[in-house]
Amino acid sequence: MIPIRCISCGKVVSAFFDEYKKRVEDGENPKEVLDDLGISKYCCRRMLIAHVEVW
Ligand SMILES: [Zn+2]
Repeated sequence: MIPIRCISCGKVVSAFFDEYKKRVEDGENPKEVLDDLGISKYCCRRMLIAHVEVW
């Protein structure tokens, strides 16, 4: 399971995860998807990126 909040800053990231994963699987650039979703902090971006790699 993905953590609900970023462990570093406390931002809720689980709400973005499904869309992020779907768009990356559809071939979009992960960095552009994160920018589009408004995930600007590196700590939060890293959490989403790491979880997709695990899956
Ligand atoms: Zn964060």
